[in-house]
Amino acid sequence: MSRTLPVNKNDYIDVVFEDLTHDGAGVAKVEGYPIFVPNGLPGEKAKVKVIKANKGYGFGRLIELYEKSPYRVDIPNNEKHKYGGCQLEHISYEGQLQYKENQVRQVLTRIGKLEDVIVHPILGMDNPLQYRNKAQVPVGEKDGKLIAGFFKPRSHEIVDTDESVIQLPEVNEAVQVMKEICSELGIPAYQEESHKGVLRHIMARYGKQTGELMVVIITKTSEIPQQKKLVEEIIARLPKVKSIVHNVNSKRTNVILGEKTTVLWGNEVIYDYIGDVKFAISALSFYQVNPVQTKVLYDKALEYANLSGEENVIDAYCGIGTISLFLAQKAKKVFGVEVVPEAIEDAKRNAELNGIKNAEFAVGEAEIVIPKWYKEGIVADVLVVDPPRKGCDEALLRTIIDMKPKKVVYVSCNPATLARDLRILEDGGYKTVEVQPVDMFPMTTHVECVSQLLLKEGN
Ligand code: SAH
Repeated sequence: MSRTLPVNKNDYIDVVFEDLTHDGAGVAKVEGYPIFVPNGLPGEKAKVKVIKANKGYGFGRLIELYEKSPYRVDIPNNEKHKYGGCQLEHISYEGQLQYKENQVRQVLTRIGKLEDVIVHPILGMDNPLQYRNKAQVPVGEKDGKLIAGFFKPRSHEIVDTDESVIQLPEVNEAVQVMKEICSELGIPAYQEESHKGVLRHIMARYGKQTGELMVVIITKTSEIPQQKKLVEEIIARLPKVKSIVHNVNSKRTNVILGEKTTVLWGNEVIYDYIGDVKFAISALSFYQVNPVQTKVLYDKALEYANLSGEENVIDAYCGIGTISLFLAQKAKKVFGVEVVPEAIEDAKRNAELNGIKNAEFAVGEAEIVIPKWYKEGIVADVLVVDPPRKGCDEALLRTIIDMKPKKVVYVSCNPATLARDLRILEDGGYKTVEVQPVDMFPMTTHVECVSQLLLKEGN
């Protein structure tokens, strides 16, 4: 028997938004039936058009706002703001911080069933704009002209834009100048549909503390037309450039970077500092995109690790060794593990660069390498994890429970998988003592947390 829904597609309805989803859409309910509406804010009254009515939930479009939220801020109605990936730009920064903090609390209770954990007020930025040190911009062609910017949501259509509000000015400038040069030299854009053409993406990375710039040209073809001229022009027009890299991605894929990377000019890496630690960053390695808040996050991780100098530490998902080297200064020994070989090369180089001798790094999956270490007798007093969005592999969590490090510091960019993993660790003998959300990605829905877990007595 089919149940009738309280709304139908194309209905116009008046609603009051009650909540925000994890991707920043407003949630309104009609007789308990949820409708998700981009741009709606809690407390706002609005007219909405129903775009889609699925069995358990629907989607709508905001038609008219009758009553505005005090947290709403007006943003210009242009493409840069519409498609720039800043889902929370229409909410005041204070409102964004509140939303993220609430989200962490809710998820820890709902998914993690953690009732008495301390969640501290989120640590935000003084200036929540122009913080990103990296851009990866898709390139296309429109009316015979080279364009670069953002993808329209759920499409492969590129919108030509001149900047992003959350990128550092140096990064915006690098992308624009690269676009101009490639356009002037007539380097053809890659065409996704026909899989023809040359230039796929422009990437720029900037060391905020050192002022060093890296540009990466990502092409379908292994040759770049006018390569010599291209390099000369980049050097002439981007004086901060220290590294020009070419990456070839010849596959039909959404993945940005391909297999082959060569340095066209300058160094293979650029350098940056987090606190006193110097880092070499290569084109393929993960490096945190918000340098100001990274320092805040790592300081918190260090505080939660609470090292005396006698501890063996394991840093799982270590990237280029950023957290490992931060901790090594206060630990007896640090073992880092990471799946990307280039990142581990960087990590080793970074240890050397800083004269740090008590850090060792291994390439591999954390869930394979750490159980192997455990069998060989390498046991951590403190174990740090900083996994990607999907969280820790269960095999790794099982090994932690067997190994019983006294402390676990869990750095997470996804509260939902954090909550899931904390539950497993709690059931295995740990107590989540405190969670500190840090706003690493203002204007977007992303939220980062660092948590401290202690092994319960008797385990
Ligand atoms: N701690 C680092 C990196 C965190 S990002 C920093 O703060 O800079 C997560 C890292 O986990 C990435 O470098 C990614 O390459 C790595 N990774 C992803 N899956 C992994 C796995 N199964 N085992 C080990 N590392 C993995």
